[in-house]
Amino acid sequence: MNPSLNDLIEISQQYGKNPLYVIAGGGNTSYKDEEKLWIKASGTSLAVIEEDGFVCLSRSKLKTIAEKSYSTDSSKREEEVKNDLHAAILFPVDKRPSVETSMHEVIDYAYVVHTHPTLVNALMCSVNAKEKCAELFPDALFIEYTDPGYVLFKKVYNRINDYKAEKGESPKVIFLENHGIFVAANNVDEVNTIYDNVNEVLLAQIEEELPFSNALEVMDFDLNAIKSVVDPASQMIVKFFSSDLIQYFVNDEQMFQKVAAAYTPDNIVYAKAYYPFLQSEENADVLKEFIAQKGYAPKVIAIKGKGIVIAEESEKSVATVLEVFTDMLKIGFYASGFGGPKSMTAEQIAFIDNWEVENYRRKMAKK
Ligand SMILES: [Zn+2]
Repeated sequence: MNPSLNDLIEISQQYGKNPLYVIAGGGNTSYKDEEKLWIKASGTSLAVIEEDGFVCLSRSKLKTIAEKSYSTDSSKREEEVKNDLHAAILFPVDKRPSVETSMHEVIDYAYVVHTHPTLVNALMCSVNAKEKCAELFPDALFIEYTDPGYVLFKKVYNRINDYKAEKGESPKVIFLENHGIFVAANNVDEVNTIYDNVNEVLLAQIEEELPFSNALEVMDFDLNAIKSVVDPASQMIVKFFSSDLIQYFVNDEQMFQKVAAAYTPDNIVYAKAYYPFLQSEENADVLKEFIAQKGYAPKVIAIKGKGIVIAEESEKSVATVLEVFTDMLKIGFYASGFGGPKSMTAEQIAFIDNWEVENYRRKMAKK
């Protein structure tokens, strides 16, 4: 095998297996030479990725995507871009390249490792994200939250070009508000060094490590009132969880407001966007209202002073939602060092809810 691809596989698994960087199969990685770009296929998990988990694309065809003009209608545009992305595939044609492929293409370094680390997102999903980022990482590029897809890609593309014009080289670190980080370099050792440095700088900002044990209790709990609303046909797995960290947020409603809406598009993909707060487990009317208003049953429900209930289709997806929501709680806790956490806005959330590409990922993640 191409030794560079070997490095790509190794670094992908390394970050993919580390829950501080990647949870629930998120993140993506790529390697490029002059002509070709290999990127994680959509729906593949970095932790276990092998050569067949990557899609190889033609860089000359990818380059046209940046320059072409597409429809002004957003769903038509995403469809056109998706078709052009598909046309750029060299092999295998039956896999879909990551939705962030174009972004990897315009980053001028051989290796790109994109993740959603907890500590990075404590900064990215905070009130002071932009100012703090400029202060702590003056050489990095910071991109304000933008709806994912072509518009985000064009913004990143233009900002990289501005950066190059100003500094004479491409940025190696790109922070995306309410999303995560891209780290790029021409060899994997440098990618690791950069990640370690980012981690060190952020750790130094955090006055207190999480004062919580990770111990998680799965308790027998009377969930009948909740079940009758979220799972009337008894087809789902509905479970109750509690831990010190969960208690910290569910003890009062004010506190829970900090984590009551998604921080990142990934949160929405796996756990949906909003998490209702119940004064007691009997309080199912709140859930009825929630469903009437939002049009869907929540996956995460907080019960005052007690814990959270997760409702999902399978044991595996319950575990994924728990992992994603626990990560949100950690982000919410650590973001207090950066002015407090900042959820996505209702408009930003609505865009993700309607996004076909994310639906595809959701479907793949369930397989
Ligand atoms: Zn991402």
